[in-house]
Amino acid sequence: MRGRELRGELDAFLAETEQDLVAFRRDLHMHPELAFAEYRTTQRIAERLSAAGLHPTVLPRGTGLFCEVGSGDGPTVALRADIDALALSDEKSVPYRSTVPGVCHACGHDVHTTVLVGTSLFLARQAAEGLLPGRVRLIFQPAEELPGGALEVMAQGGINGVDRIFGLHCDPRVDVGQVGLKVGPITSACDKLSIRVSGPGGHTARPHLTADLVFALAKILTELPAALSRRVDPRSSLSLVWGRVESGSAANAIPDDGIAEGTVRCLDENAWHAAPDLIKALLESVAGAYGVEATMDYTRGVPPVVNDEASVQMLAEAAERALGTGSVVPTTQSLGGEDFAWYLESIPGAFARLGTRSPESGVQYDIHQGTFDVDEAAIGQGVRLMAATALTALWEGHRLGADEHVTEPMAELI
Ligand SMILES: [Zn+2]
Ligand SMILES: [Zn+2]
Repeated sequence: MRGRELRGELDAFLAETEQDLVAFRRDLHMHPELAFAEYRTTQRIAERLSAAGLHPTVLPRGTGLFCEVGSGDGPTVALRADIDALALSDEKSVPYRSTVPGVCHACGHDVHTTVLVGTSLFLARQAAEGLLPGRVRLIFQPAEELPGGALEVMAQGGINGVDRIFGLHCDPRVDVGQVGLKVGPITSACDKLSIRVSGPGGHTARPHLTADLVFALAKILTELPAALSRRVDPRSSLSLVWGRVESGSAANAIPDDGIAEGTVRCLDENAWHAAPDLIKALLESVAGAYGVEATMDYTRGVPPVVNDEASVQMLAEAAERALGTGSVVPTTQSLGGEDFAWYLESIPGAFARLGTRSPESGVQYDIHQGTFDVDEAAIGQGVRLMAATALTALWEGHRLGADEHVTEPMAELI
């Protein structure tokens, strides 16, 4: 089954199920659950999958699940949705407004979840008719916002045996019916850095007999970002910005300790991997020059999501097939983080931006705001995209082997 046939199958499936999927999304929207507390959501998903004859495995904490559809020796493709909500109040006045105070699906994960439920039901039907040329692993991941859910899924073997993985995120800057794609990095890394300096302290009259801690701390504050800008490829946009500094209590006393905290943001995966060691070495050299002790506490966030070119090509082919010509638009790398990146450190794949803006509404929503909402036509479009992507990847995987996909360079999406 190819091209037009697939489109016809999807049309028929959605004519039958789209209304029900919208109702499913609204139910999730009314009952949002925070990271690692998505018990009800997990149960609702499991009920739908089981009713379609699938056999979901709930993760040990009781939140999040994965399941496989199809059989045989063909390739295995994974589709991932995240299922958690945010600690934000719902500020909308719609019938499906959140019923949980201070918790809201302001990042659209209710839409991602519904899209994958719909896709699962479609693929289950395809498998029953013998039309699935391989296996599709359906991953409903908890706790994307924490982040940490991706690591939990991986620890439970969620991507074992998977050749390629795909995910999507609502994008309120893209019109519904369109898909934003980009080869290479599409989100960014953000880590937290905390530095503590210490020395003997003493009278400001005699800095030469002690260690001038405030002066040394000031040097660290300015030298570290300056040295980083000369030691790292500027194209990686590695930036260290301080947010908090504290030291001392009296004008005429050199303090014996001080603290500086900031964030390290980065667009490039290699630079992100190298950042902690490089910053530590620079810190030791500056602190050593002024005779103070310095320790560093570096908290990793998520790496950037780096889209594999062959996988983006598959998403683009699928979008053309299932959403129509002209549905693919280029997108840019955002400074936000997304824990889908952790899967892509192990296996190839790609992450798409699903258009959720109503062209005629004129309202510009943003994610992580209490007013965020989507044009619900995006649910059906998401099902078309995900189902067609899984099938395209299975067809291509059969033809070439998972690692041999050869494509024309996608100049406009790089
Ligand atoms: Zn979010
Ligand atoms: Zn999100």
